[in-house]
Amino acid sequence: MNEQNKQVYHPGEIVPESGIYECDCGKAHEFNTDVKGHRFPPMHHDCPGGGWKLREATHAD
Ligand SMILES: [Zn+2]
Repeated sequence: MNEQNKQVYHPGEIVPESGIYECDCGKAHEFNTDVKGHRFPPMHHDCPGGGWKLREATHAD
């Protein structure tokens, strides 16, 4: 019961929060950004997933 943390962001969308994102395909492809405001990258070329989910937020000191 953790659905409120399952927001999926698609390639090209603005990164709303810095942190570690993982794709939704279940193979743990990761995208790590420390700069919010960037755009999400395309999925890995061999990734069947459709978007990125925030796994762990990071906050700049
Ligand atoms: Zn993937």
